[in-house]
Amino acid sequence: MDTAGTERSGREVATGIYRFGTSRINWYVLEAEDGLTVVDAGLPAHWPQLGDWLAENGYEFGDVAALVVTHADADHVGFAARLAERGVPIYCHPADRSLLSGQPQGAPGWFYRNLWRPGFLRYAVEMIRDGVTSVEPVAETEPLAAGEVLPVPGEPRVVFAPGHTPGSCALSVEDRDVLFCGDVLATRNIFTGQEGDPQLLGAADEDHEEARGSLDRLDGLGSVTLLPGHGNPWQGEVETAVESAR
Ligand SMILES: [Zn+2]
Repeated sequence: MDTAGTERSGREVATGIYRFGTSRINWYVLEAEDGLTVVDAGLPAHWPQLGDWLAENGYEFGDVAALVVTHADADHVGFAARLAERGVPIYCHPADRSLLSGQPQGAPGWFYRNLWRPGFLRYAVEMIRDGVTSVEPVAETEPLAAGEVLPVPGEPRVVFAPGHTPGSCALSVEDRDVLFCGDVLATRNIFTGQEGDPQLLGAADEDHEEARGSLDRLDGLGSVTLLPGHGNPWQGEVETAVESAR
């Protein structure tokens, strides 16, 4: 991804949906007639990308109606506190609330055990460079619940799919055939840096068996553009994505 290019067309990955972050870590803006919803919040160093894009496209911070986090790992909530300070409601599943209010978190064991992998080391170096150790906590959050259509621009529906973290969710935007899948599925192997088919996060899952079981909850979503937390967009039947991940 061209991180220097902030033009509208270069970022648009589905109708009215824009991709930000870096080639390793994604977050998105969902544009609707009643405002903007930010989906995930990358790392602290990604913050200027949002302000630049808003300015270039005739928006202000006041147009950001909500931040919805698919889960509260550090590389998905990096600038959440900046939005909260501006009065933007932060939607997070209650099971991940303590993760969000407890930032910055120390790195888990699997993180250190995988640093010998060159692809993962590059990811780790990028995370440190971009502020993973100084992510600010957010104490006040709006809950989201399985099956709920959120009262935010774009009206994403919550698909609760725990395992990667206890509160991991995907977000389905049915009228655009889009599924934000957070880290329920990735299209980039965070350990090797290789782009590929939809896959589970493996060793990075807090409960890998639960994450595998949660794939059942994606059934019936049909043909989508899958927008993951890590990796390029993928298009196809959700069932095919799930089969590939299993
Ligand atoms: Zn992640």
